[in-house]
Amino acid sequence: MRNDIIRAEKLNTMGELAASFAHEVRNPLTVVKGFMQLMHQQETGKNHEYLTLALSEVGRAEMILSDYLNFAKPQFNKIEECSFHEVLTEIVALLGPLAAKGGVSLKTQMEKEKMCISTDRNQLKQALVNLVKNAIEATDEGGVVTISLRHHDIHAVIEIQDNGRGMSEEQLSRIGTLFYTTKEKGTGLGTCVSLRILNEMKGSIHYSSEAGKGTIVTVQLPQFKTSCCKQTQAILNIAK
Ligand code: ADP
Ligand code: MG
Repeated sequence: MRNDIIRAEKLNTMGELAASFAHEVRNPLTVVKGFMQLMHQQETGKNHEYLTLALSEVGRAEMILSDYLNFAKPQFNKIEECSFHEVLTEIVALLGPLAAKGGVSLKTQMEKEKMCISTDRNQLKQALVNLVKNAIEATDEGGVVTISLRHHDIHAVIEIQDNGRGMSEEQLSRIGTLFYTTKEKGTGLGTCVSLRILNEMKGSIHYSSEAGKGTIVTVQLPQFKTSCCKQTQAILNIAK
């Protein structure tokens, strides 16, 4: 089963509404978090324990809010040369504990050749983290998630493959729809945020999945090699 996602633009209005709400809620939440942190330092015993739990839930709420904000308007604040190897290595380090907790092994297969993109590093990371996180969450204990990197012409191709529960044709057709989730604590935002960011980077995303077998997510992004950066950038400009 294949699915190329191109529907991100239709989600603008809903996403922007959600983001303005997120923006309003985030400020008071930051104040609440600050006072809770203060109390957390002062309290002992049961109260300390309760505050630890409350702070972790506030952290979760903050993450959801930043997903909403990012969905409406990804902030490309600092454009720099980002190495795909480095970014993927950082993602593996970041999500290693989540994978280990679920008994999933997280592997990489990366071509040695240096591949780079000129973009906001945090946004690139965010887009890929959401996809890798989904792969880990879809995989049962003993399963494997493999992140691979290769080049194809002027593109870097990143593949995130899992042997988890996969998706039916109906599920696959809904992926990338705002708020679509099959998880108890899911938000249905992760894929939308990734789509939005990758779209902004002139990239593409493609899903191939089979229920009960697993999923392959293929991301293509324009890349340039540092050694012949100008030449490849010129090709990219022509291709635009
Ligand atoms: P959330 O993770 O909060 O549910 P997402 O937008 O990240 O929201 O994902 C939406 C849904 O797409 C998930 O709930 C899941 O059902 C499905 N999904 C995404 N990636 C995968 C995957 N690799 N394998 C199986 N299902 C997936
Ligand atoms: Mg997700």
